[in-house]
Amino acid sequence: MRSPAAITSPRRIPEFFPVCELSPISRRNAVKAALAFAASPFLRYVPTYAADHAEVSEIAPGVFVHQGRYEMQSPENRGDMANACFVVGNESVAVIDTLGSAVAGSELRNAIRTVTSKPIRYVINTHMHPDHVFGNAAFKEDNPIYVGHLKLARGLASRAERYLAINKQMLGDNAFQGIEIILPTLAVNGTETLDLGGRSLVLETQPTAHTDNDMTITDTATDTLFLGDLLFSVHVPTLDGSIKGWLALLDDLSRKQAARVVPGHGPKAMELPGALEPEQRYLAAIVSDVRRLIKEGKTLEDATRVAGFSERDAWKLFDQYHVRNVTAAFAELEWE
Ligand SMILES: [Zn+2]
Repeated sequence: MRSPAAITSPRRIPEFFPVCELSPISRRNAVKAALAFAASPFLRYVPTYAADHAEVSEIAPGVFVHQGRYEMQSPENRGDMANACFVVGNESVAVIDTLGSAVAGSELRNAIRTVTSKPIRYVINTHMHPDHVFGNAAFKEDNPIYVGHLKLARGLASRAERYLAINKQMLGDNAFQGIEIILPTLAVNGTETLDLGGRSLVLETQPTAHTDNDMTITDTATDTLFLGDLLFSVHVPTLDGSIKGWLALLDDLSRKQAARVVPGHGPKAMELPGALEPEQRYLAAIVSDVRRLIKEGKTLEDATRVAGFSERDAWKLFDQYHVRNVTAAFAELEWE
């Protein structure tokens, strides 16, 4: 396993601030910690909340990230397998992705409520996948504006029945409780700016890559770029859009400037362009192997046995997703 190009590591926290084990950190302490370490680009505190609060870290002033597990959904993890974030402005809060169940979503909401009582005005989904949108229902009581790529609604609605059936089976009845398909009430086409009071989020829809409805978000106050599942680290990338489109977009993103990026799966914060490189290498290995095999007249079945297997030791969940990725890539590349 290659170590990810993380710029934050929980191990370095005790040097800055004692981690409060098992007891909830008080708001006053959280504010004090935030003020004390406002100049540090690293994590300033890592509160460990009670079980019904998602654990979150403040990676930049007012920017909080919960790191999901590198697992498939299960009754035990309650669909808590992707990163979920929130940004606190002077007037309101925006949530970026809501985890993979209403139960996990409400744990995220509880974590937000431990940090701030400001209204949750926006719930943004980076794309349609269940591990990023199935917690949306936990925020219904806040009556937020749900925000997503223009193509998210069509993509999610057409897959809803299948997504619900698979997740009911994998999560089990308890963790599945309360899940609802909630589509965006604000569909973004191009660029949209959301004002949280004293800070803005700039949303940009992206061309087909991981899916056909990926959207990136920049918090302009801290220059933090949320990439959703356009960036996987540690967790093997999953392809549900276009492998050629994804590689082209990563090329563009690698030339961007940002103080930090937040992946959809991986550490809480990383640096450009190094953060993108393992994923670029993985996708490029599939493309070059599949193109060669197609040229040699090999079948899809042949490809699923060999293409991209040089990457096997570099990723978690490789065996769960890689063959599907090769299958999708083969279907795209055989028509070149
Ligand atoms: Zn995804």
